[in-house]
Amino acid sequence: MAAPPSPVTRVVVENCAIATVDANDTEYARGHIVVAGNTIESVGPGAAPAGLTDVVRRVDGTGHLATPGLVNTHHHFYQWLTRGLAQNSNLFDWLVALYPTWARIDETMVYAAARGSLAMMVRGGVTTAMDHHYVFPRGAGDLLGAEIRAAREMGVRFSPTRGSMDRGASAGGLPPDFAVETTQAALSATEEAIDTHHDPSFGSMLRMGVAPCSPFSVSTELLRESAALARRKGVRLHTHGSETVEEEHFCKELFGMGPTDYFESTGWLGEDVWMAHCVHMNDADIEAFARTGTGVAHCPSSNARLGAGTARVPGMLRAGVPVGLGVDGTASNESGELHTELRNALLVHRLAGGEAALDVRQALRLGTYGGAQVLGRAQEIGSLEAGKLADLVLWRLDGLGHSTIADPVAALVLGAPAPVTLCLINGEPVVEDGRLLTADEDTIAREARAEARRLARIAAGAG
Ligand code: ZN
Repeated sequence: MAAPPSPVTRVVVENCAIATVDANDTEYARGHIVVAGNTIESVGPGAAPAGLTDVVRRVDGTGHLATPGLVNTHHHFYQWLTRGLAQNSNLFDWLVALYPTWARIDETMVYAAARGSLAMMVRGGVTTAMDHHYVFPRGAGDLLGAEIRAAREMGVRFSPTRGSMDRGASAGGLPPDFAVETTQAALSATEEAIDTHHDPSFGSMLRMGVAPCSPFSVSTELLRESAALARRKGVRLHTHGSETVEEEHFCKELFGMGPTDYFESTGWLGEDVWMAHCVHMNDADIEAFARTGTGVAHCPSSNARLGAGTARVPGMLRAGVPVGLGVDGTASNESGELHTELRNALLVHRLAGGEAALDVRQALRLGTYGGAQVLGRAQEIGSLEAGKLADLVLWRLDGLGHSTIADPVAALVLGAPAPVTLCLINGEPVVEDGRLLTADEDTIAREARAEARRLARIAAGAG
């Protein structure tokens, strides 16, 4: 006789406001969420259904707003060790200033940086993290493995991408030759990373992606071959696109066309592709993204920090382009948080486009469902609905920062960064009362500082 299935344990959250971010933007002023195992069993108004069995925990959410966990769609964890540098540079000058330091990273540094980046995001309500790692110095160890280990230990749902650069300065690219790989080495390592780590199953905690860095650091051959590899393996494609005016000039000079046309010519538009930034897009570019289902990782703070410009997100949303939010690397967004990007996105677009450009519910959608869409996981995460994975956040809104704002979504988006009372990832508590449960923040801070200093010493030639 087969053993009886192990009982599914339930966690019940009640008495909180709920913004489900489902297709109808359903909200409850006072509702309940029942989590069974790693999935959401029910969401609705009032108290949880009576007679539930195997309830291991009841959470009183009075004074709180429950939302889907935030989904980050663009990041570079290793930059946690090089924050606050090249403070007054545009993208190209900032990159040129930082490449020599980045070319000295190793596995221990990347592990410490990943822990810092992940802890900062998760403490602020991120339940799905993404990383775009594209610096692979020879002999530096297993850098991708280090960040995957960090995410697994912290219990975070993760979409790492194997990045690459093969167009060094001698081939007309921006990075110095010592910072790039050969085309073949990049492709082989990317294929190996997919074979080793990618889990395509429903509820997966790790989905790999393929992510050559940008048009000005990657050969046309690597772009084409990367797209073919990703499609052969059934994984998603990611890169930086249309970030600055300088990139547009670079593409026109080298390829005789703008970045979006160049991407289309290399097989890089499609519903399995999402790109970071997309700041300098004309109407035809936006139409091409909408027509092909290509997604956008919008990074308002990073774009502001580097003076890159304002992406036309309201126009993209009207056209039907999937848009999520990204922290971007913390060398260009030192805060390292995603929940503050909800507010920054709204403010940036109202500055550019007036008071109707983006509302608080659209901002919350960008950071949740929009992110799930661009990562190709909208069937699993991004909204609070029965059958989806239990990635959710309980934001405290009855404290000093928010108690006088009646609309909880407005409090979350427009108010001060809201404290996280509880964050569940895959049904497991990862943050309680603002503190990480799965790692020690003070240890992470200490180790990251030591590794940042070691990197600075080595880069200065003293290590
Ligand atoms: Zn980036």
